[in-house]
Amino acid sequence: MHLPGSSSANSPLKFALFIYLSLVVVLAFSLTAEGMPKLYFRHGAVSSAKTLNLLAVAHNYMSQGKKAIVMKPSLDTRFGADAVKSRAGLSQPADVLIERDTNLLDISEDIRRNVNCVLVDEVQFLDPLQIDQLRAITQLWKVPVICYGLRTDFRTNLFPGSRRLLEVADAIEEVKTTCQFCNSKAVFNLKHVNGKADCTGPAVQLGAEEKYFPACFKCYKDALKKAGQPVSVWEDGFPGDDDRSSSESDTSLEESTGSLN
Ligand SMILES: [Zn+2]
Repeated sequence: MHLPGSSSANSPLKFALFIYLSLVVVLAFSLTAEGMPKLYFRHGAVSSAKTLNLLAVAHNYMSQGKKAIVMKPSLDTRFGADAVKSRAGLSQPADVLIERDTNLLDISEDIRRNVNCVLVDEVQFLDPLQIDQLRAITQLWKVPVICYGLRTDFRTNLFPGSRRLLEVADAIEEVKTTCQFCNSKAVFNLKHVNGKADCTGPAVQLGAEEKYFPACFKCYKDALKKAGQPVSVWEDGFPGDDDRSSSESDTSLEESTGSLN
């Protein structure tokens, strides 16, 4: 794994985040110490450091002399075909690239030998059948499977893979972040096209970072409303949106979550 140089201005912040994520790993170990290894779904809005979390887990396994397999869908080529890379700069090549028709139970013995953990990035792009295969792997390989990804697309609809994970995962955990436009917790993924909010186009449309923003409900709906694009589930208008200011009703991130992951 490539670690960024210690001379960068935000290294103390990265180090603190790394230590915090390490504690999360210890918690994951404790949760899997008894009984069957678990299937985890760690979901979060865009830019919530999910991949950084994944890479920290992989690093911790490696530093303890253990083996973690990193998988990602081949569909995600933003940082190169086989690179798992966080926006903070950490990166690692994927051990397994998942195609639409990949049977994860057929992964070669060379790759899965002596494995201690399976980590999956951008899991929302997997087929529901592949989620069931990950579910089976926890039992067949006797290792925890930790999946990171988006819960919903930019139209607020569940990705099929994420839906299946919500149905069959042992543990569902939120990787929290703040709204790009205020200080509330982000729940939605707002797409911008040419600088304007947009909810058209296919659900699976990987793009540059500037195209997707983490947003709270108010900022999400206000941006789409301003752009004349109410999302499909609210195409007749957002309920309760009768010129009333809802700014006083927002719950701050600190009140709702305690702290950031
Ligand atoms: Zn907001």
